[in-house]
Amino acid sequence: MVMLDSDSDRYARERAEMVERQLRARGIRDQRVLDAMSRIPRHEFVPEEFRSQAYQDHPVPIGENQTISQPFIIALSLQALDLAGTEMVLEVGTGSGYQTAVVAELAGLVYTIERYSRLAENAEQILARLGFANVRVAVGDGSLGLREHAPYEAIVVSAAAPSLPRSLFDQLADSGRMVIPIGPPHAQELELVRKQQGEPVIKVLEGCRFVPLIGGEGY
Ligand code: SAH
Repeated sequence: MVMLDSDSDRYARERAEMVERQLRARGIRDQRVLDAMSRIPRHEFVPEEFRSQAYQDHPVPIGENQTISQPFIIALSLQALDLAGTEMVLEVGTGSGYQTAVVAELAGLVYTIERYSRLAENAEQILARLGFANVRVAVGDGSLGLREHAPYEAIVVSAAAPSLPRSLFDQLADSGRMVIPIGPPHAQELELVRKQQGEPVIKVLEGCRFVPLIGGEGY
């Protein structure tokens, strides 16, 4: 991928520290995830006024009352998806587009869907500027998935659902994996859902706190 001149030494240093302290030190072992997050300029996805916080260990505002996800939670989610590089992936909740970029580095083709058109357009522009050609951005209610391109070998959901959305599970390929936060608005469990012979097999990865998934099969 293309690196911009504005990716200064300071951001490069902060990014290396993020990978060591927030990811490797907390048990992220997937080298492809670590490499992708070492490369992608996270600060480019954060509004100007919050750039100094881009590599910190917490969510940062991105507009429309939404936040860019914490680096550790992104790494944990994508490590669990165990992507080989060829997969077609659906991401629900594009937000800033940062996680979209990480998925794009790890998979073959990424469809991402966001309910706020302003966020979707902004993310699409940044991703294009950084040279990501394997990303398609859609606007709509991602709690219902994106049926026209299903099935997906992996799905990653970046907003919290009250329960496992049936539409998303239906759009998962057999042997596919989905990572999704499930639970009440203020505290959820990040779950890895595998589809095995049409049935969900669930493993809880971690406690987490995401913004709510708003829509037909969300809140
Ligand atoms: N991974 C993103 C997370 C953004 S926060 C990032 O790191 O930037 C979650 C996003 O999900 C928000 O942008 C919110 O608008 C979006 N969202 C919530 N409900 C949605 C739905 N039903 N369909 C699509 N996007 C949704």
